[in-house]
Amino acid sequence: MSTPRDYYEILEISRNASAEEVKKAFRKKAREYHPDVNKDPNAEGIFKEMGEAYEVLSDPQKRQVYDAYGHEGLRGGGYQPSWDFMQGFPDLNDLFAQFFGGGFPGAEGYAQRGGPSRGEDLRFDLDLDFMEAMSGANKEIEITHLAHCSACQGTGASPGSGGPAVCQTCMGQGQIRQTTQTIIGHFTQISPCPRCQGQGTMIVDPCKTCHGKGRQQENRKLNLNIPPGVDTGTRLRVAGEGNVGPQNGPAGDLYVFLSIKEHPFFKRDGYDLYATVLVTYSQLVLGDEIEVPMLKGTEKIKIQPGTQSGAVFTLKNRGIPILNSPGQHGHYHAQVVLEVPKKLSNEERKLLEKLKLLESERLDQHQVHSSSFVHRFKEVLSGGA
Ligand SMILES: [Zn+2]
Ligand SMILES: [Zn+2]
Repeated sequence: MSTPRDYYEILEISRNASAEEVKKAFRKKAREYHPDVNKDPNAEGIFKEMGEAYEVLSDPQKRQVYDAYGHEGLRGGGYQPSWDFMQGFPDLNDLFAQFFGGGFPGAEGYAQRGGPSRGEDLRFDLDLDFMEAMSGANKEIEITHLAHCSACQGTGASPGSGGPAVCQTCMGQGQIRQTTQTIIGHFTQISPCPRCQGQGTMIVDPCKTCHGKGRQQENRKLNLNIPPGVDTGTRLRVAGEGNVGPQNGPAGDLYVFLSIKEHPFFKRDGYDLYATVLVTYSQLVLGDEIEVPMLKGTEKIKIQPGTQSGAVFTLKNRGIPILNSPGQHGHYHAQVVLEVPKKLSNEERKLLEKLKLLESERLDQHQVHSSSFVHRFKEVLSGGA
């Protein structure tokens, strides 16, 4: 094992830094090593080093030992980093979780340390129709989660047994203190009780229904309020509807993952809504007023004479409701596309034959222009200038 670095050097403070300065230095430096901003592969090691430096220097007794005897003095006294001080840094919670895998003991209130653990989060997948996603919906779902066992009220102990018994090793404290006497004073270490795993109680006579787990499967109907604008991939959190924790631990959350079905007419891109409207040749040539379907009702769109097939009409703020922003919408884009009819009535055919004749006469007038164009085109193809 290499020689540990000097604690003052690690935190970049002077040897007579005040308690406040020590704290400030640690917070600042810890933030610098947040994995979201610092991609240094050694970030974890450096963070742990800083934690140890802070733990020692923030404790007047340990600091005194360190100042007098250095790292050897601390080791000789049986010092081990405990990270207990992290409860004083709730703002560094995420950082701690990143490096230690899971929140530190004080993440949900220090009093819970060694107490019942939180239950698991659960996932539920829900399919929605396109229009339900647009307008929002109320959906009843049926889930299965672990609830507190009704036979033992979640304690895990057989109902007649008088509940869990106090652990005799820690006398219900859930933690044990070990004091080591050294020439430079005594050190007290606190660690979770190994016999009861920090629970403070032990189940002597397990409940027959849940086999001492304190929880059992339960089917449950839930009413979901789905806001307008949700999309495939939107995740709704239902607090407290995950599994309860063992031994009366608090419940995890339920996450509902949404998947939205396609719509035959509307397509979405972000919060913009797209629709294709089929129109006739005469509507494009002569102009017209057409009615297009909207998410609610219809809207009239004016086609100007001479509009090309493929033209897009945009209606601002008439698209998809923006999630959690009441009254705000994306845009609506309607594309007019020429539909060429395959079947014609006799009268339509007669008129079109006439039109065709007129069109060819119109083209004949441009004969000179056309032939010169063809000539020019051939020149280009043959490589002439
Ligand atoms: Zn039970
Ligand atoms: Zn115990």
